[in-house]
Amino acid sequence: MTTKTTKDSKGDKAKKTAKAKDFKDLKNSKDPKGSKEPKVAKGSLKASKPAPSQPLTAKESLKEPQVEMAKAAIDPSCSECHVRACYRQDAKAPVFCASEASQDEVAETKDIYTGEGIYAKVAKAAAELEAEYYGRLTRLEETVVFALKMGAKKVGVASCLSFLDESAIYAKAVRSAGLEVKTVSCKVGSLDKTEIGLSEEYKFCPGEPEACCNPALQAKVLNEWGSDVNVIMGLCVGHDFLFSSHSAAPTVTLAVKDRVLGHNPMAAIYTSKLFYNRILDYKKYPKSRLDKNKK
Ligand code: SF4
Repeated sequence: MTTKTTKDSKGDKAKKTAKAKDFKDLKNSKDPKGSKEPKVAKGSLKASKPAPSQPLTAKESLKEPQVEMAKAAIDPSCSECHVRACYRQDAKAPVFCASEASQDEVAETKDIYTGEGIYAKVAKAAAELEAEYYGRLTRLEETVVFALKMGAKKVGVASCLSFLDESAIYAKAVRSAGLEVKTVSCKVGSLDKTEIGLSEEYKFCPGEPEACCNPALQAKVLNEWGSDVNVIMGLCVGHDFLFSSHSAAPTVTLAVKDRVLGHNPMAAIYTSKLFYNRILDYKKYPKSRLDKNKK
């Protein structure tokens, strides 16, 4: 194991110095006879590997046999790829590889990240943040450093009503970095749910005033204030899109709402082999409380 690691790291070094023009060039350069077989990630099906000049077939790039069998019914994409060659270009790409299929678009996206505009600024700040603090800052701290790297003076917080106490703590954290903060609740404007076409049964207390979330107004208030960066604090699925779409400033997410799992949606995936295996079968989801014909 130790020997392999040493070999691999030497190989990685060599690969880093050899700059392939693009993904495709590199793949082709790994072909010839006598050349070292491209490194294949542990778990891939080495025994059935095709000739070096051929991309891996969909099956060969899949990790687990059961996934392979299920392949008959699925259209594989990056989530089913086990070689993940796009990161270090150290293996052959599968036939369904998105990198292979979008070579023309690679140049277009490079322009987005290298121009003078806001996208380039965000890309640079995000990449620097990752490189400088990888595994050392909490996400909360990362949002503060991100704002500083963006040169922000004002940070807007689009908060769920039920996250306002948490937002107050977050605001203190942001202020500690010398930045101004403004929090806007999702119920701002107090627009009744019936005013956007929802019937009373969609309220938790039918017949009573009950505001719908108004993420577009959250964004407008923060736009008016002149926030340089906005942070989403626990907005609902869908309302996050509405906020981002109306926000004039770049928007990042601190917290996502998950009312069942303590705002940690990944817990459903991490426990999907046992406690939350229902997530793999939509038919097993709890029924809508408004669906009176089903239990
Ligand atoms: S881009 Fe290609 S190599 Fe990367 S994960 Fe997707 S399929 Fe695999």
